[in-house]
Amino acid sequence: MSYLQNMKTKILDGKKLREKIRIKLGQRVEGMRRTPVLAIVSVKGADRSDVYIREKIKFGASIGVKVRNIVLPADCSASELLDAIKAQNQDNTVDGVIVQMPLPFSDLRIFANAVNPQKDVDGLTDVNLGKILAGAGEGILAATARGVITLLREYDESVDGKKVLIIGRSTLVGRPLAAAMLALNATVTVAHSRTANIREEIRSADIVVVAAGVPNLIRREDVRSHQVIVDVGISLVDGEKIEEEIPTKNVVGDVAFDEVRDSVSAISPVPGGVGPMTVASLFENLLDALR
Ligand code: NAD
Repeated sequence: MSYLQNMKTKILDGKKLREKIRIKLGQRVEGMRRTPVLAIVSVKGADRSDVYIREKIKFGASIGVKVRNIVLPADCSASELLDAIKAQNQDNTVDGVIVQMPLPFSDLRIFANAVNPQKDVDGLTDVNLGKILAGAGEGILAATARGVITLLREYDESVDGKKVLIIGRSTLVGRPLAAAMLALNATVTVAHSRTANIREEIRSADIVVVAAGVPNLIRREDVRSHQVIVDVGISLVDGEKIEEEIPTKNVVGDVAFDEVRDSVSAISPVPGGVGPMTVASLFENLLDALR
């Protein structure tokens, strides 16, 4: 690839945008009469959850939000975890409640849905997912989906009228993002592990958002020069799947970034793309929920 082609590709820099959002949120908190409080309910020893929580506590502290972590013992029962979530729902000093994944239980939806929808700043309850799907401009959008949309908007990449392919159909990323994109007038296709001819789907899209957790799923031969690629996937180089971006250099996305970057119009890197946006969007959701 020539030097000029390289220069043309827009890098969707989530780390830079997170810093802009951090300043704006800090100013919003300064103007408030009291300190907003986010409660994170977690289970001790769940894979890397302490790292994810530390990142949120750090971001919260930097904008003046108090982050309270309620840690249950590793051998807690499902009903103890549900009780802990309900206690935060009922606590009037708490503005937002999140349940930190992963959890040592199989049916995670029960815990996601135990959060009071008005305090559900991760946007993962069926109530908020349903409101986003209804498209009436109500409901709290899942933090990662909000992060993707904010990132595209910052770089003037409108989705209106565009063919958007979302790879992944989880309730955490793919589904809420599909609903939100539809509300923004995109023509949305959702692909997943059972999709036939996924390469054709990728080639015919204007914007591809990939959230599969499969490194190198998108290679140079899959993309075209006008396309915008947003990489949500996060895995460690050694193949370990992780839930959120962590401060280490050994993180890769679902796109073979070095191969693809010169062949598309815009691309988000991993790390430093959607990952930092998710934390910022969580706190945007929190402050919006206070209104
Ligand atoms: P998940 O495992 O719940 O869902 C993965 C989805 O990808 C499924 O719908 C599956 O059908 C699809 N998929 C898997 N392999 C595929 C393939 N070969 N082709 C097409 N589709 C395929 O995962 P999730 O929780 O939605 O997370 C997805 C990825 O996004 C993970 O890497 C996760 O770490 C990352 N993630 C990142 C952030 C962030 O802040 N950037 C936040 C959440 C999740």
